[in-house]
Amino acid sequence: MDAERLREVMGRAMEIGREKIPLGSVASYIPELSKARKDALGLCIALPDGSVYKTGDTNIRFTIQSISKVISLCKALELHGPQEVFRHVGMEPSGEAFNSIVELDLQANRPFNPMINSGAIAVESTIIDYVSFEDMLEYARLLCNDSGITMNRQVYHSEMNSCDRNRAIAYLLKSKEIITTNVDNSIELYTKLCSLNVTAESLANFALLLAKGGVSPFTGERLLAEETVRTVLSIMLTCGMYDGSGRFAVEVGVPTKSGVGGGLMAAVHGRAGVGIYGPSLDKRGNCIAGCEMMKQLSRDLGLHMF
Ligand code: GLU
Repeated sequence: MDAERLREVMGRAMEIGREKIPLGSVASYIPELSKARKDALGLCIALPDGSVYKTGDTNIRFTIQSISKVISLCKALELHGPQEVFRHVGMEPSGEAFNSIVELDLQANRPFNPMINSGAIAVESTIIDYVSFEDMLEYARLLCNDSGITMNRQVYHSEMNSCDRNRAIAYLLKSKEIITTNVDNSIELYTKLCSLNVTAESLANFALLLAKGGVSPFTGERLLAEETVRTVLSIMLTCGMYDGSGRFAVEVGVPTKSGVGGGLMAAVHGRAGVGIYGPSLDKRGNCIAGCEMMKQLSRDLGLHMF
């Protein structure tokens, strides 16, 4: 990608994103998240040659939230392989909200996919006996090429005090014998991983690693197996944007995952990693500016995979 053109396209995407910010709202169901600056916006694009393009609030730290589900899925797949992991969780879009419980109770003998809360809790229960939170923190630092990632204690405690719904999901999973781990430990690990502080740049780095098939663009070392990456990206494409995943796949055509902290990461096959921060969310919980920016970037740079 030509540097000049990329900067110009990023500038236009930022303008388009900014226009959308007033139409969304900052997540407030985790009280600490409501303190985010609604008008913050940052865009970072990392390229395979090591160059990084940034504009706006790319250095603000914010909690990774649902994007941690991608990290847990990577770890579970690397530890157990897909066959074992998908005994505990499905690989189909749910069409329901990220924290939905109803379809799990009525229709399924396992959560629909690893990108919704029930699925992530099930995935994490497969790794909890093998890795500690500290191991996962190091893993997140490695995948995001960001040694500055720490756990945001305020957000963690705030969510632990308001996560009755996730507890209910975990108890339901346990009652169905989908998880056999201790519910408190599972919720603690899940919530700690959601509370990791990242930047738009860390997300762009992680997305670039996935876009490069699991080989670190920084060291050339293989960090993830090819099969892990293929699985993770397929799940991101079909389930990564909550119940807006279908439309996003049609309009943008890039495997992407968002989180209610305002983060969004998109892996453009072989070409780039994109990280966006914008805490103003649409009604589905996706970064409202980021969705529009990804549409624009996809059009301007020809990023759609089909
Ligand atoms: N920690 C959040 C929750 O469990 C993550 C949700 C999200 O980002 O989608 O509600």
